[in-house]
Amino acid sequence: MSENTRADLESWFRYADELGLGPYYRDRVAPKSFSSLLPSAEAAAPALSAPAISAAVSVQFSAAAPRRSPSSPLPAAAPAKMIPLIQGPAGPSLFEERIENDSLERIRADIGDCTRCRLHKARTNIVFGVGNPKAELVFVGEGPGHDEDIQGEPFVGRAGKLLTQMIEAMGLKRSDVYICNVVKCRPPENRLPEKDEISTCSPFLARQLAVINPKVICCLGACAAQTVLETNQGISRFRGEWFDYRGSKLIATYHPAYLLRNPAAKGEVWKDLQKVMSVLGLQPKPRH
Ligand code: URA
Repeated sequence: MSENTRADLESWFRYADELGLGPYYRDRVAPKSFSSLLPSAEAAAPALSAPAISAAVSVQFSAAAPRRSPSSPLPAAAPAKMIPLIQGPAGPSLFEERIENDSLERIRADIGDCTRCRLHKARTNIVFGVGNPKAELVFVGEGPGHDEDIQGEPFVGRAGKLLTQMIEAMGLKRSDVYICNVVKCRPPENRLPEKDEISTCSPFLARQLAVINPKVICCLGACAAQTVLETNQGISRFRGEWFDYRGSKLIATYHPAYLLRNPAAKGEVWKDLQKVMSVLGLQPKPRH
């Protein structure tokens, strides 16, 4: 298979995953068996008119000076609604590990020059994470792409630039938040990380989240959301809902790479980010 065909297929698989089709084709029964555990009617996000707000969003995502007002929550955003964690498949949790006096430095040292899974073979750099170690907000992505692999920093490519715009539209700077991924090495040709790669690497993510202990975790895309919530539900079934993750509030939204392919979904993402802003008491960046 040529690299282009493979990249196209990967892109379609990701798209299907974002729509929640992935689990169905993998398990046949997944959406049905998990739907009873979802907070259906009362917690389901209302259908959004994405086109109506996406124009505003593209302005929001490209605005410049950050402004933070911790004491004045956005009046327009909905209050945080806590709903129970979706139960994932039976088996030991990837997120059980608790280490006394853990620190980001210690986690990075424990990762070392990792060869625990096959992803190490083609990587240039381990992409550990970047930002404020005391951040109130952590973004979790899937795994490094080409640019991230070269630079050793998460979300620095095209999707990363969009994420930076989203962060700035929230009235924050990149350095205010912490950004990391489920897997720390680039999957070759930007394929999705495989199950065993995720289970090998995600304990380090769990430790990062435990050390930072943010107010809010925002999972970007299906891989991050499904990994942290330990579910195989399609992200569109629980996107925009609040979950409790070990004392942090967790929300999942679409991945910026998905937004690059589907700009109409920016409106939905902006709504999700507004919920985060409401919890953190952030004001959107003023438009000029
Ligand atoms: N996509 C991700 O999920 N993470 C990155 O760091 C870059 C792109």
